[in-house]
Amino acid sequence: MTEVDSTIVASTWTRPLQPPAKIPDKADIVIIGGGIVGVSTAWFLAKQGIKVVVCEKGHIAGEQSGRNWGWVRVQGRDTREIPMMLESQRIWDTLEQETGEDVGFVRRGCYFTARSRKELESIDTWLGIADEYGIESRVLSAGEIRKHLGDSPVNWHGALYTEADGRAEPHKAVPAIARAAERAGATLLTSCAVRGLETSGGSVSAVVTEHGTIRTATTLCAAGAWSALFCRSLGIALPQLKVRGTVARTAACENVLDGNVFDELLGIRRRQDGGYTIAHGTIIKHPITPSTLRWSIKFIPALLQELKVLRLSIGREFLEEWRMPKRWELDEVTPFEQTRVLDPDPDPGVLRGIRKNLDKMFPQLAATPIVESWAGMIEMTPDVVPVFSDVPKLPGFYIATGLSGHGFGLGPGAGKALAGMLTGTDTGIDLKPLRYGRFFDGSPIRPQSSI
Ligand SMILES: Cc1cc2nc3c(=O)[nH]c(=O)nc-3n(C[C@H](O)[C@H](O)[C@H](O)COP(=O)(O)OP(=O)(O)OC[C@H]3O[C@@H](n4cnc5c(N)ncnc54)[C@H](O)[C@@H]3O)c2cc1C
Repeated sequence: MTEVDSTIVASTWTRPLQPPAKIPDKADIVIIGGGIVGVSTAWFLAKQGIKVVVCEKGHIAGEQSGRNWGWVRVQGRDTREIPMMLESQRIWDTLEQETGEDVGFVRRGCYFTARSRKELESIDTWLGIADEYGIESRVLSAGEIRKHLGDSPVNWHGALYTEADGRAEPHKAVPAIARAAERAGATLLTSCAVRGLETSGGSVSAVVTEHGTIRTATTLCAAGAWSALFCRSLGIALPQLKVRGTVARTAACENVLDGNVFDELLGIRRRQDGGYTIAHGTIIKHPITPSTLRWSIKFIPALLQELKVLRLSIGREFLEEWRMPKRWELDEVTPFEQTRVLDPDPDPGVLRGIRKNLDKMFPQLAATPIVESWAGMIEMTPDVVPVFSDVPKLPGFYIATGLSGHGFGLGPGAGKALAGMLTGTDTGIDLKPLRYGRFFDGSPIRPQSSI
């Protein structure tokens, strides 16, 4: 088997930073954030000849977009995301060809397992939704699961299965999209934090970065876990909270399963390098911060939904957020420069659980070492679907954030939809259900899918 670099994932955010030699003095559109949403949007804009600049405070894919599990699934999604996700999968199909780079995308199916009939009943409600959107999902019996997932001592009652779902390699795919955007004419600036905006007559007139000012009338905040802070500095309230996900990767090993499996023990998928990306199936950690208190009422429905899996803690993160400035002068160093890369430690207890659960679920892999582990902060809105929207009180300012634990797969489709939003072009993807105002206009807050 081929030798794999022991930091193949972490090297996305640990290599030396490359500040820009110079920055453009103007652009049609400036995007804040070089995650999958920022670079995909830039790619679709640049292909239309629009002069777009992406400012990333750290590395391309240095935060959520380089740390995720790599699942590209429609199964189990909120109906508000489904048309965009189906479009995204179509883009994934040709991404390799379009970017000229290996992104590791393959469709090998997605499984949500159930241990009991009751559990199966709680997930097979998806079948009605799948039917409505023409998605081929079905329930596998215990016997069928064995055929798909091979030998495991776990006694599964059934599983929800969508054959057309797939996976890609985040550390390859996101930089590949970024390079494609550059080739199409976009300017990508790394190590370039955006400190704030200038306005003229109440509308956006420039983006102020740590390296200078870029004149523009349109800016998109695709700042992931930092979006709420950035918006707050502009006087815009954005309900957003974060949870920490710990992830690990095994060495290359026997192929015991080729799809993505979500089980109460593990989330697991085969990697292109012959190993597995693995995470705990039922632990989500939320460090309580002042934002938790500020937004608790709006997040109650999501909290109740995740009650069984959510582990709350209070510690360092509370004080860090408490002390973090909320406003600053634009000639001052900001929190975005102070934390170039949000790089939480993987949780040692969760890592032990992952190892134990892997051995329990696939004893054939008991001797396979875990060779790399990392963590990422997943950010979400109260209804666990994104905000893709203008903000009426600040013309020219748009938000694309809150993709929760499902934004990697959605990224290319989001890029297409957002490029349409910014240029006023109809892409056939309805973004009204994702408007910013829904959290403040009395609309019911109803998460349909989990984090
Ligand atoms: C552990 C984990 C597992 C996941 N698993 C999956 C999965 O299997 N499938 C799936 O579809 N999704 C998954 N996700 C979710 C997915 O990774 C995210 O939804 C997606 O990457 C979000 O992309 P983004 O571009 O919005 O944000 P990010 O990738 O977080 O990018 C935002 C960028 O903005 C930059 N930034 C912030 N503020 C500024 C500023 N002021 N100036 C300049 N730059 C700034 C940041 O440095 C960052 O790089 C997972 C996430 C995690 C953490």
